[in-house]
Amino acid sequence: MTAMNNAEPMVKANAVCKDFGSNQVLKGIDLHVQQGEVVCLIGPSGSGKSTFLRCINHLEAIDGGRMWVNGKIVGYELKGNRLYEQSHNEICHSRSDVGMVFQQFNLFPHMTVLQNLIEAPRLVRKERKATAVARAKSLLDKVGLSEKADAYPRQLSGGQQQRVAIARALCMEPKLMLFDEPTSALDPELVGEVLKVMKDLATSGMTMVVVTHEMNFARDVADRVVFMDDGYVVEEGPARDVITNPQNERTKAFLASVLAEPAAA
Ligand code: ADP
Ligand code: MG
Repeated sequence: MTAMNNAEPMVKANAVCKDFGSNQVLKGIDLHVQQGEVVCLIGPSGSGKSTFLRCINHLEAIDGGRMWVNGKIVGYELKGNRLYEQSHNEICHSRSDVGMVFQQFNLFPHMTVLQNLIEAPRLVRKERKATAVARAKSLLDKVGLSEKADAYPRQLSGGQQQRVAIARALCMEPKLMLFDEPTSALDPELVGEVLKVMKDLATSGMTMVVVTHEMNFARDVADRVVFMDDGYVVEEGPARDVITNPQNERTKAFLASVLAEPAAA
């Protein structure tokens, strides 16, 4: 959670634009995320938060502006002063620096927890089984699920499945973790255990961009909160300032609506 401001930013978005046909979804996003920083992205449904996350790890190509992750232009290679689009293999390689956790946990249902965790390291990184298993077990321990290594996803609660999904992303030793509403699909009583794992990860120094409606988490864990509306960054600042003392009218209206929601949806 301590940002090293003199280092190259982990994420640098300059005037990033994205269209889906005639629908302009990102209208020039400028955002820097420093190494070790935790940024929460908030905003109404449809404002472009998921699309922006997907642009960070090149699940979507951008239509304008530039995006760098860890100093490298996402999806392109600079040779001389010309940009060349990366091959599929090169994109996969850069993407392995970035871990992503979705609202739906997306675990492989026919694999045990341990098999889920070692799949990508074995296939993508060609790791030896013993190495992959050792790291997987240590990460399962970190998320409090050592005893579930041989369980299948369907035998776990939603909160446990999401913790497995986080451990699975960490098995690739990412430099950056993206979370897209990781607790939105969970029963209210299971939200806390997932947020706790995310908080521990933040404390350990991981750089994180988190789309969330959990305002307490944003206020307590994020270094910075970014409010997006209609494809723009409308307001950003230290988490506490934005959440407790928003300046923009749209931020005020959004926070009022989110904070008014009953805890159990
Ligand atoms: P948020 O995550 O803030 O709710 P999204 O990034 O999911 O917003 O969506 C922003 C807009 O982009 C919406 O209007 C949505 O319908 C549109 N959109 C998102 N993904 C696609 C897609 N793959 N094809 C077409 N339109 C999309
Ligand atoms: Mg979304």
